[in-house]
Amino acid sequence: MEKTVRVTRSFLPPMEEYVEMLKPIWDSAWLTNMGDYHERLKERLKEYLNVEGIELFTNGHLALEMALQAFELEGEVITTPFTFASTTHAIVRNGLTPVFCDIDPEDYTIDTDRIEERITERTCAIVPVHVYGNICQVDKIEKIAKKHGLKVIYDAAHAFGETVDGRGIGTFGDASMFSFHATKVYHTIEGGAVTFREKWLADRLYKLKNFGIMGEESVEFVGGNGKMNEFQAAMGLCNLKYTEQVIARRKELTERYREHLQGIKGLKLCPEKEGVKSNYAYMPVVFEGNGFQRDEVAEQLKNHGIYPRKYFYPCVNAYQCYQGTYDPKDTPVADRISRQVLTLPLYPDLEMEEVDRICRIILGECRKA
Ligand SMILES: *Cc1c(COP(=O)(O)O)cnc(C)c1O
Repeated sequence: MEKTVRVTRSFLPPMEEYVEMLKPIWDSAWLTNMGDYHERLKERLKEYLNVEGIELFTNGHLALEMALQAFELEGEVITTPFTFASTTHAIVRNGLTPVFCDIDPEDYTIDTDRIEERITERTCAIVPVHVYGNICQVDKIEKIAKKHGLKVIYDAAHAFGETVDGRGIGTFGDASMFSFHATKVYHTIEGGAVTFREKWLADRLYKLKNFGIMGEESVEFVGGNGKMNEFQAAMGLCNLKYTEQVIARRKELTERYREHLQGIKGLKLCPEKEGVKSNYAYMPVVFEGNGFQRDEVAEQLKNHGIYPRKYFYPCVNAYQCYQGTYDPKDTPVADRISRQVLTLPLYPDLEMEEVDRICRIILGECRKA
C-alpha cells in the first residue's frame, strides 16, 4: 500500500512547548485583546520580517480587507486573477472594482508591461500578489504607482520572511499583507499581519481591528474586529523558533524536485531570482503540453495516493460569483497557466523518498508522451 501524500501538512512545534506557554494564559486569564504574547509576537515579527511597522490580525484575509480600508479608496483596483479568492474578495468587499491585469508567463506575478493600459481616471490602487513567494517587479510597480498617484498594497501571503537584496519584502509599497494560516510557511493556526512604513497606519489599522476603541470611554472610529488572540500568538512564538529550520528543509526538498524535473521538455519550473532570499513556499510545475496534460498527470498521481493541487485553478475571473462581470479570456496567460499548473506536495515532514517517487511518476507520464 502506497503512502497517501497531500499537497501540504501543517508544521507543529513540540506539543510540550506549546502547552508550557499556555500556563501564563491560565494564570492571567487574559485570552485576547493585545495581551502579552500578542505584544511579544509583534516585536519578534517586526524584527524577523525586517519592517518598520506591523499590526497583527486574526487572519490574513481580514488583514488585507482592513489594509485596503485604511487608505479610504474609491474606484478601480488593478490586480491579477491568478491568486487565491481572498485577494479579489477583499477588494470587492471594500466596495472597490477589481480590474484584472494579466500575469508574467515566467513567474506568474503581475505583468508590469500591461499595468498602464489598465489605468483609467478611476484607478486608485494596485494590489499585486507575490504568488508562490515569487517576488513581483517591485521597482517597476513603484515607478508606475508614483507616476499615476496610485497606492500599492501587496498580497504577500506567500512571501513570509523573503528579502530582496537584504530588504524585507514587507517594506515595499504602501502596505503588505502576510497570512499566518495553518497551511502557510509560517503560521499562528489562523492569523495575519499588515506591514507598512508610514506611522499613521499603525493607529488606523489598530482602530480598524478593534472597533475604533482607543480608551475606556473613547470610540473614535467605526472599526470592526480583527484582533489576534493569545493562543494564536503563543503558537506564533513557538513556531518562529523553528522557521529557519522549516525553510531549510523546504529548500532541500525543492532542490530535489528541481534535480529530477529541471530541463525536462514540456515541464516548466519557476526561475530562481538573483538577490532574493526565498522561503520555498510552493512547488508549482507547469505542464506545457508536449503530448501530456496536467490533468492526466494529476490523475496518475492520485492513483498512487498523491494529491497535488491545481493551485490556482480556476482563475478568479472565472469564478461563478464573478460570472458575467469578467472574462478569463482577457487575461490569456493567467487562463493558460491555471490550466497547466500543478502544485506538488511540499512540507517539512515530507520524506525525500516521496519526492523521488512523485517525480518518477511524473517523468513516467512524460516518457509515455
Ligand atoms: C492564504 C492566502 C490569503 C488569505 O489568508 P488567510 O490567512 O487564509 O485569511 C490571501 N491571499 C493569498 C494569495 C493566500 O494564499
